[in-house]
Order: sequence, then structure tokens, then C-alpha cells
Amino acid sequence: MRILIEGLAQACGYELECMAKLFFQAERMPGEKVEGGCPEVPEEFLYANGELLERKAEENRYRLMVRLRILDRGSGELADSSAEREVSCPEETVQKTFEFHLGKMTYDLLGKATGIKPPWGILTGVRPVKLVQRCLSQGMGEEETAAYFRDRYVSQEKIALAMETARCQRPILERVTPRSYSLYISIPFCPSRCSYCSFVSHSIEKAAKLVEPYVELLCRELEVIARLAEELSLELASVYMGGGTPTTLSARQMERVTDTISRCFPLDRALEYTIEAGRPDTIDREKLEVMRAAGVNRISINPQTLNDQVLAAVGRRHSSQDVLDAIDMARQVGFDNINCDLIAGLSGETPESFRDSLDRLIQDGPENITVHTLSVKRAARLRQEGDYLEAVHNPAAPMVEYAQKALGKGGYHPYYLYRQRDTLGNLENTGYCKPGREGYYNVYIMEEAQTILAAGAGATTKLKDPFSTYIERVFNYKYPYEYIERFADILDRKGQVRGFYERIFNT
Ligand code: SF4
Repeated sequence: MRILIEGLAQACGYELECMAKLFFQAERMPGEKVEGGCPEVPEEFLYANGELLERKAEENRYRLMVRLRILDRGSGELADSSAEREVSCPEETVQKTFEFHLGKMTYDLLGKATGIKPPWGILTGVRPVKLVQRCLSQGMGEEETAAYFRDRYVSQEKIALAMETARCQRPILERVTPRSYSLYISIPFCPSRCSYCSFVSHSIEKAAKLVEPYVELLCRELEVIARLAEELSLELASVYMGGGTPTTLSARQMERVTDTISRCFPLDRALEYTIEAGRPDTIDREKLEVMRAAGVNRISINPQTLNDQVLAAVGRRHSSQDVLDAIDMARQVGFDNINCDLIAGLSGETPESFRDSLDRLIQDGPENITVHTLSVKRAARLRQEGDYLEAVHNPAAPMVEYAQKALGKGGYHPYYLYRQRDTLGNLENTGYCKPGREGYYNVYIMEEAQTILAAGAGATTKLKDPFSTYIERVFNYKYPYEYIERFADILDRKGQVRGFYERIFNT
């Protein structure tokens, strides 16, 4: 489906394109935007035209009109409708006000044409809780902040979720100092590729030769980062090793990395040290003992579902019992802060089987349970060869709703939340935890609250100006083979970190 945008609507072309995607299933997603209309009307299109019908500038009043046409091959002509609205605003905010109201009018028309009510309303951003935090820090009270979200058509349930999440984050965000940072370490290898995954992880079978040189260079990069952080007087807040699946490394390779971290970074001052153990088929007692001895105090063991048929269908080579056994083993080794991820909407999952997974997990009692909604990105195997249509039509909403209620009853509260593109039902991912077990790194990265210094392939360093919202990014090469071949470039780019902090602190 092509999206044709004319007139005033061009001013909010990008927003309009993102918003249109809220109303269409991924297989008919509007793409290929054409601004200024199209001489040849394509077979399938979404057309939006915005006009200023009347202007009474001396009274600061304007009358706007939006016309919307949708031609969809599947459903025929879905809409040819229009809406008008009078708005008033001072001259200096005309553009913003027009964009906002044109967006809302288009949203209303799309909603009427499709019968869909996106739970996050016109919000298309990844970080709705950051928006709550911004409203509150600008002096808006909770009621005023809720009204701001209502005005953007966010549902009452999602407003409540975002507000509660924001409240839980406050004490964690208050610990951020101008020089604090978190360290991220990327291990981009997995035992096999899950069907829904678009991550740049390499299956260990195909990439076995790369692991050893990768670990060596990763340790060198960590040494350089540690020296830089010390010279710039940066303060380590948290450490997070993710991927991929870090426990794809052997116990000896894991020890090599954790030893480097212990030797180079002041771990005694860090609030948290997490390793994403990820898949139970990569976890054994020896690796858990290595991590524990290194001071790791939080791990993730991610079932995604406890439905064995679904696990097999998405390409996981382990059973639900393996997950529960791995959690048990981690407890025996001494881990008392464990996270488990679940995914709502996996192909073959039903609301009942999801409920069963969640209930069993709550009974097992990990300190964190993170509920993701399935997001099938372009690069995922499922999108190319799997039963994609079945996947995108799986209703995740009842699963997500159940999770919110059941976890609340089970003594968990939400503490971080984010949205992704191409997520079923435009739903969110939410991290829940028992009181006092919030994952610091998750909050810092999602709220973009502090600098993240990142090491490894595919990792991105995010330099956060503590006195503004400005963020500068330094990218590492995406794939392990590039990272290994062009490692000298990676080290060269560290100069950007030094330059950034010297500018910020005028040193
Ligand atoms: S374990 Fe995670 S990162 Fe690895 S393939 Fe599966 S979803 Fe992707």
C-alpha cells in the first residue's frame, strides 16, 4: 500500500506515516510514502490531504480540513471521508498546533474507517514513560499528565500502566549523577536462531571459529573503555552483558570476559551486574558458578513460553522443564535476583496457554518477569518463511491484559516499559518485578537517563548530555567478523567519547 500525502498534511508526513501503521496489519502496512500526491493512483493507497479552509490570524483562529481516502485490495474502498476543525493558537505555535490537530483528525478518520482503536492512541514513540517523566518534571501533576495522554487518545489502562511505571522509576532515576554511566557488553552468538528474531546474533554452529578471537578483542575493548572512563572520572552505575545469548560462551571464555571486567572496572561501586543467561540450553552449573564468583547479582533465564509445542515451533531446542530446572540450579548456586522473559502472541500460543505459562512462572517466583509482545521485524525468519499471517493475527491483547492483572495480584509491579515497531496490536513490552528488585540498567537504557558505554559487535555507545536531552551515538560494527577485521576502527572511535565529555565539562 502506498501512502500519498498532499497539502498541509505534508508538514506531518513522517508522523502520519507512523500513525497510519497503527491501523493496518503488517502485511498491508502503508509504506513507500509519496508527498505532494501521485499522478498515477496506485492499486492500493492511503491518501491524506490537509487544507487550511479559513484563516483569522488577528483572532488566532484557523479552520482545518483533512480528507482521507483508503483503497485496500483486500477490503475495497475503505474510506473517502473528511473532517473539519477550528483551532486557535498564537502565531508562534501555528505549525505545531496544525501538525497536532491534523494528526488527530487523520487518526479519527482512520479509526472510523478501520474500526481499530490503538491502545496508545496517536503516540507512535518508543518511550511513553519518558513522556510521563517529562510532563512531571515540567511541573505537571499526575492528573494533568493523565489528561495530556487522554488528549492523545491513549486508553485509560495504558495511562494507568505508564503512570505506575513512572512512579516506580523515580528513585532509580534520582540516583543518576552527571558523570554516571552504565556498561553494556554484547555477546552476539546464540545456539540457534529463533524464528521471530531479527537480532544480529550468529548461530554458534556457524560462527564457532569467530568466538575465540571475538572474546580476545572484546576484552581489549573493555580495557580501553575502562581506562577512558577512569581518565574522564566517570562513575559506573551498572553492568549488563546481553546479546545474543552470553552463556553461549564456554565457562572458560565467560571467565576470561568476567575477569577482565572485575580487573578493570570498580564493580564495588556498581548498583547492579546483570548477565542475560537467556536460553536454558546454554546454562550449566560451571558457567553459573563463574558468573556468581565474578559478582554477577542478576541473571535472566528466558523461557518466552512454557508451552513445549510453541517452544519447538519457534526453533528453541529446550523444553519448559529445562527452564524451570535452570532457574532451580541458579538458585542453588546463589542467585537471588532472576528475570524471566515471556512473549505474548507467539505463533501457536493461545490466551489459555499463555495464561498457563505465566501462572506457572509466577508460582516459581522469579524476582522479575518481563512480558514482551511479539514483534516480527523484516529480518526475522518468520517473516520470510514461517506462517507469518498466522503470527500477525494472533491476538496478544488478552495475554498482555491478563499479565498486567495476574502479576499485580502476584506482588509484581511494572518498572520499565517500551514499545517497538511491528508489534502485534501496537502493544508494549513491560518489565515487572517484586518490590526493590527493579533492574537499574533497564530503566537507564529505556529512559535514556545516562550514558551507556558499549563494547562488542552491534553495540552502540550512547553519550548522554546530563544537562540536556542531547544524545550522541558511537556505533560498533554490527557483525562479529567485521568487528574482528576492523577492530582498529572501533578503538579509534573511542576518541569521540573523550571529545564529548571534554566539551560537556569544559576540561
Ligand atoms: S535467543 Fe534471543 S537473541 Fe538469540 S535468536 Fe533467540 S530471540 Fe534472538
